[in-house]
Amino acid sequence: MNETLLSARGIVKRFAGFCALDGVDLDVTQGAIHGLIGPNGAGKSTFINVLAGQLRPSEGQIRLRGDSLVGLAPHEVVRRGVARSFQITSIFPGYTVYQNVQIALMAHAGHCGHWLRPAAPTLREETERLLETSNLLPDRARVAGELAAGDRKRLEFAISLASQPALLLLDEPTAGMSPSERAMVTETILRLNRELGMTVLFTEHDIEMVFGTAQRVTVLHQGRKLAEGAPRAVRSDARVQEVYLGG
Ligand code: ADP
Ligand code: MG
Repeated sequence: MNETLLSARGIVKRFAGFCALDGVDLDVTQGAIHGLIGPNGAGKSTFINVLAGQLRPSEGQIRLRGDSLVGLAPHEVVRRGVARSFQITSIFPGYTVYQNVQIALMAHAGHCGHWLRPAAPTLREETERLLETSNLLPDRARVAGELAAGDRKRLEFAISLASQPALLLLDEPTAGMSPSERAMVTETILRLNRELGMTVLFTEHDIEMVFGTAQRVTVLHQGRKLAEGAPRAVRSDARVQEVYLGG
């Protein structure tokens, strides 16, 4: 249970001389919900983009179960087992929730020959399973383009899960949502972790949500790791309090 799934070492990312990440080490444990917090501009999104292969680190190493991910294109990173939930881009707005999940499953199966395997569940079973774990069964017939932010985010989760990832990356999954939508998205993250054993690394502006959800929290500040540990220890860390109160 305490096996390291993803290990990032010495991650540096420079943008034209500006150092957004300055030597970050981070281990994500298999089966954990790991929260990444820090003030605006701390480097959280840059870090997620580096892990997902959208940005190439200037320096450093990233390994998933020992296999290096650095230099792989985003779709290759997905195939290795690291999925990220994107904004609306991966959703077809004119199709229903059900059709969107089915399309994502077929796209993934195209890469893997999944449906040719004798023991594989049918496309319909797999679609319904993903809708269920993402709390989307009641919304299955709705047109994706008409979903509210919280429902759309849960559809993004379902689409990301279609690639059967080992690790799900989420960058501010509840941004711009109402409190009830946020609660539902938070509950879905907990459910994915509890029921599927999904490992999740996520960033969030709402630090109370992170402290209430994550088993482990890393705090970034000015591109460096400021603190890390169990939520209670991180919350009471004097440096963390200073950064947030002084922010
Ligand atoms: P966070 O997500 O923690 O708010 P970001 O990772 O988005 O922070 O940004 C970290 C720093 O890197 C910020 O100062 C931001 O302006 C800078 N930055 C991010 N992306 C770029 C880019 N493509 N070009 C130049 N600077 C960038
Ligand atoms: Mg960000």
